[in-house]
Amino acid sequence: MLADYAVRVERTRGRRHPEPPHPYRNEFQRDRDRVIHARSFRRLENKTQVFTARVSDHFRNRLTHTIEVAQISRTIAEQLGLNVDLAETLALVHDIGHPPFGHAGEKALDAAMRKHGLFFDHNLHALRIVEDFELRYAAFRGLNLTFEVREGIIKHSRDYSAEQHPELSEYLLDQKPPLEAQLIDLTDEIAYNTADLDDGYEAEVLTVAQIRENVPAFERAYQVAETRYPQAIEKLKFNEALKRFFNQLVTDLMNHTRERVAKAGVKTLDDVRSHPERLAAFSPAMDAERRRAKEFLYANLYYSPELRADKERAEVVVGELFEFWMSHPEELPRSYQAKAKEEPLARIVCDYVAGMTDGFIAEQHGKFLGDRG
Ligand code: MG
Repeated sequence: MLADYAVRVERTRGRRHPEPPHPYRNEFQRDRDRVIHARSFRRLENKTQVFTARVSDHFRNRLTHTIEVAQISRTIAEQLGLNVDLAETLALVHDIGHPPFGHAGEKALDAAMRKHGLFFDHNLHALRIVEDFELRYAAFRGLNLTFEVREGIIKHSRDYSAEQHPELSEYLLDQKPPLEAQLIDLTDEIAYNTADLDDGYEAEVLTVAQIRENVPAFERAYQVAETRYPQAIEKLKFNEALKRFFNQLVTDLMNHTRERVAKAGVKTLDDVRSHPERLAAFSPAMDAERRRAKEFLYANLYYSPELRADKERAEVVVGELFEFWMSHPEELPRSYQAKAKEEPLARIVCDYVAGMTDGFIAEQHGKFLGDRG
């Protein structure tokens, strides 16, 4: 049962290149399937989330993180009467524009671009991927996704101003995105904050005592686990506590968003779009808990000495390769050399680097710059 404020697939603004309907899949289901079958989606498997895969096969990579975001998004969308197919598609595509080496790679690529007066933004890059780089159809470039999916790619995590981004003017920049898109930024937060506690503990960078001391919601959940399972080993108490914290985040986001929609008197999709602020939100109390977890992870995991070497290597590899191709564009693949005739070389080098997996960029660095990383 779709709520009145949900996106209705039969009212989609459609695709750039009109296509006949499919006999049994609706337009958002087709978009979901196009994302799943895209090369850039498959490459997520070999892109770092937080830990490089060589540490352990159990840690998340960008693909498994993406699947977790899709799981949470589907659950909440269904409970709120939103369009589950659209929410799932937006979750599956939300990290498709991420470069290799996780956050460090993203920062390094942006820094390299800024030296040439440009910048890197993974949402804008994701749009370039689905609009241009994916080559699957004889009739057009890109995946030819519906308007609502392209809009969600751009707007799920931030607002872009029309003055700064005239090229995005078709995406209704003066309006908020539908709730299906608003959700993704927050389900992403739930997924990585809990998963990074999990992987950080598994990697023995974080201890249970340390998490209990710094993340109050986890501490309360751990106390419940201890009371219920006093004999259990620490790892299983940890799992019970994390599961409880995870569940509280999901439930809170769902309930508080529902409440905000009701309080705002929002009835239709147009109401969602024209509301002055985003309606998908955690309650203030839960948002404070989420922030505590996030701040803890920044201080103790993302900037930990254990991950510093990975970060430094990412900066070296991305930075050096970027400058190498800027001064040796003849070493770029031919298709990129051709593109450099239409757009600044730095943008083309950026596109090439951003699409790479951790494995491929390391190999390229070895090939062109010796393995100095
Ligand atoms: Mg993400």
